[in-house]
Amino acid sequence: MTRAAISFLPGPAQLHPDVLVALSRTPAPHRGAAFLEDVASIKAELRALTGARHVSVMLGSGTIANDVVAAQLRRSDERGLVLVNGEFGERLSDHARRAGATFDVERLPWGVPFDGNAIERALAAHPAATWVWMVHLETSTGVVNDLPRLTTLAHARGMRIAVDGVSAIGSISVQVGDVDFATAVSGKGIGSVPGVAIICHRERVTPDERIARSLDLGLYAGAEGVPFTLSSNLIWALSAALGHAAKPGRMERLATVGAQLRVELERRGHVIVAPVESAAPSVVTVALGADECVQAFGDALAARGILTSYRSDYLVRRNWIQAAVMGECTREQVDTLLAVWDEVRGREPVRDERARRGHHPLGGVAAHL
Ligand SMILES: *Cc1c(COP(=O)(O)O)cnc(C)c1O
Repeated sequence: MTRAAISFLPGPAQLHPDVLVALSRTPAPHRGAAFLEDVASIKAELRALTGARHVSVMLGSGTIANDVVAAQLRRSDERGLVLVNGEFGERLSDHARRAGATFDVERLPWGVPFDGNAIERALAAHPAATWVWMVHLETSTGVVNDLPRLTTLAHARGMRIAVDGVSAIGSISVQVGDVDFATAVSGKGIGSVPGVAIICHRERVTPDERIARSLDLGLYAGAEGVPFTLSSNLIWALSAALGHAAKPGRMERLATVGAQLRVELERRGHVIVAPVESAAPSVVTVALGADECVQAFGDALAARGILTSYRSDYLVRRNWIQAAVMGECTREQVDTLLAVWDEVRGREPVRDERARRGHHPLGGVAAHL
């Protein structure tokens, strides 16, 4: 195998060369005027991407960003509600519990979306809840929960809204201007290296001495945005990646490529976990049959240079394997994935029967996009 491996992992993303250039520059002091300007401009770019009113950045992964939000939700001492339909929803409930928040949990089976009706039922069942926390793109299943509906319904009840946008922001179009707290990271959909945790927030947040310093959003929101050491290289790399991630048409292109992947896998008889009307094009989760072992299959793909996601406990337990289309991904790379997939399964490539019968192979999915 001479070809370089192609990554269909949700992270680390496939890096644009500009990101690597940014990483190799000589670091700038984090209190220097030039760097503070760079931080201000990355925040402006993130506001433009998400519609957020305020953005704070800090060193860390998505887990840290969600801990920061948990600490804010805990501040009020009021009861909340966490919506769970996958691994990352379960983690939000764990974040809230560790922060000492008081809350209820509404669960749906993994793979079942929180659509408008499910959200309405959940909110109605918990009239005392003053805040609600949900994952937007549930990375474990590829399901997109309906954030616009949550925003409308929760506001009608006067609730505050928090959303985990870690795998959504940068990979699908997300608007969080009316959301109280939304998290994102540098290393997934936006397509930089991991290391910058991003919090979008609706209000100016003030510091709170009951919160650990490193998790206190109020400290990051003040102090020109840099209360502690921040890596200039990670900020520059994020800026370089954002420059490409925010280009017009990119998300639509990735959505097309992801939808093609889904259609091709379904034509091979595979079960895709997320129902098509709530599926993220950027994460395709395949439930393998009982006769196929996800570890052996994923290892065989990896040995042939195709990196997929199948090692996490929650995937192994369900015999699920995932191909993520985040950062940079082309139709040619998807075709390579499919060719290797067929080779590993030892089958003839599936002939495009529907195309020959005059149907556009993307018909239904493209209409949904
Ligand atoms: C990856 C992920 C996280 C955790 O992020 P880390 O960067 O691994 O800490 C949280 N939520 C969602 C939806 C994710 O996809």
